[in-house]
Amino acid sequence: MRKPIIAGNWKLNKTINEAAQLVTLLKRQIPDTQHVDVVICPVVTALAAVSEILIDSDIQLGAQDLYWEEKGAFTGQVSGSLLKDAGAKYVIVGHSERRQFFNETHETVNKKAKAALKNGLTPIVCVGEMLAERESQTTFQVIEAQLKGAFAGFSADEMSRIILAYEPVWAIGTGKVATPAQAQEVHLFIRKEISILFGEEVARGIRIQYGGSVKADNIAELMRQADIDGALVGGASLDANGFSDIVKNAQVAALK
Ligand code: PEP
Repeated sequence: MRKPIIAGNWKLNKTINEAAQLVTLLKRQIPDTQHVDVVICPVVTALAAVSEILIDSDIQLGAQDLYWEEKGAFTGQVSGSLLKDAGAKYVIVGHSERRQFFNETHETVNKKAKAALKNGLTPIVCVGEMLAERESQTTFQVIEAQLKGAFAGFSADEMSRIILAYEPVWAIGTGKVATPAQAQEVHLFIRKEISILFGEEVARGIRIQYGGSVKADNIAELMRQADIDGALVGGASLDANGFSDIVKNAQVAALK
């Protein structure tokens, strides 16, 4: 049995004070993570403050990116060990916004995921096709190349410590959610690819989140699909009621 995991990606939003307010509400509204793991990923400047507030909560903390080197002359970068030091347990790697706007490549995603594992962080590695790629029916080739690139040189043991997020780029922040059938088709493909690359056992155990315009009213149907193990949520994770309703509906779906 794979325990579903809902993660909130706050992107470039919220001051330290605003982050503290939101997480204080979330703590109250999400008292129980027995059936669904819950992670929030604030901006890096708010990590330490949010970590303090989460001390007596089961909600876990993640970062949105990391650099693969540990220390040195890399102005502006933040390493996995510093994220850990600030209280993070998870880190998003290869989000499509980083691929699109910050030159993230298969190679950098690979280095970042490796560095995260080395520092005891759980990477949430994102894959997903652009609209033009879906329309030209190359979705599976794109995803296959992203998986092979991201996890080149990984052992089965390393792979078993990864969380994947399938995020069709055309569904991110657009309000256009993939249908449960569209998402399930790609999730199943991803699981099969992982099985080919790392074996049946790793494929059966790996959690694959769906991401792209997830809201409280569509999470349950997505989660009912056999290969969807939760969600990576952007916009709707910025609102305490919206995010806690997603978690509640995911918990109900997980128990069915
Ligand atoms: C995301 O940023 O990972 C995401 C899925 O965003 P949204 O939920 O806003 O589509």
